[in-house]
Amino acid sequence: MTYLVTGGAGFIGSHLVDALLARGDSVVALDNLATGSPANLSEAAKNASFRFVHGSVLDELIVDELVHRCDAVIHMAAAVGVRLVVEEPLRSLITNIRGSQIVIEAAHRYRRKVLMTSTSDIYGKNSLGPLQETADRILGPPSIVRWAYSTAKAVDEILANCYHREHDLATVVVRLFNTVGPRQSAAYGMVVPRLVRQAVRGEPLTVYGDGRQTRCFTHVSDIVDALLRLLDEPAAIGQTYNVGASREISIRELAEMIIARTGSASAIRFVPYDQAYESGFEDMQRKVPDTSKLRVLTGWLPRRSLDDILTDAIGHARRELAARARPSSPHASAMRT
Ligand code: UDP
Repeated sequence: MTYLVTGGAGFIGSHLVDALLARGDSVVALDNLATGSPANLSEAAKNASFRFVHGSVLDELIVDELVHRCDAVIHMAAAVGVRLVVEEPLRSLITNIRGSQIVIEAAHRYRRKVLMTSTSDIYGKNSLGPLQETADRILGPPSIVRWAYSTAKAVDEILANCYHREHDLATVVVRLFNTVGPRQSAAYGMVVPRLVRQAVRGEPLTVYGDGRQTRCFTHVSDIVDALLRLLDEPAAIGQTYNVGASREISIRELAEMIIARTGSASAIRFVPYDQAYESGFEDMQRKVPDTSKLRVLTGWLPRRSLDDILTDAIGHARRELAARARPSSPHASAMRT
């Protein structure tokens, strides 16, 4: 199979590229490198079955040509991270809605299967958790950027569902919960790389709000495993799946755990949301997936624990810090922050 992975130079996309290549598939990665990085594809670039195309999903001609040449599409290109979405709402919205529409229209033209990645932000303020795929969406007003983002991703899902129902296009929708692992940059605001980096540098750990909000963190290798299982499963077509681990932890506990695991002398600094993001910002208090639908279909269970996740993240942050201390080191220029 030849897969087109949009957003293939990104954190999750690049791990998926590696996994597809490892099992013998050919891959074309399309990425505009807005948040992705060529360094993420350094291993893939050595493989003759891999090709990188620097371009945007908003470029209809490129997307048309690449979709035409592939067998299936994994659409991961998106404006990622709450921080980016808050800072650049219009660009995020256009990338997420128009970009997905261009990709799915091309897939329809050439009858290619599409796996569309969506987000746990779909559920908005529904904090009942664990949430099944059919759980209600509870959103604040569209004037709050976070709910606009949630709505944009819902539009992507609806597009996939409509193309499946009305045009019999093979589509699969996957809602990813908080994903962590190697290559995740601290630059886009995600909590684990940020807090770990702060801890190893001896800086205060910034916990937003009162820190009682909870998340479930999943290692990127488990996410990739779920994506591959869903790609290979004909019964997944036309369906939506949550992917995420079940261990729920508050952000305050997470910060304490990171301080303990790194042996850092850092303190926790509580930062009000309106300082962390913008005035009127609303957080999701709880994001807990029910993944029984995925497990029943594919047998998927996450294999990496939160301990494994933190061990990886701490190792990465320490190597990054060491590389910065040795600017002449060959690793220094390859490390991203
Ligand atoms: N968060 C935090 N400190 C940070 C970055 C994030 O307390 O430096 C919080 C954030 O407010 C949210 C949680 O950690 O409650 C997870 O944030 P992230 O952006 O990683 O993911 P998401 O909000 O999309 O689940």
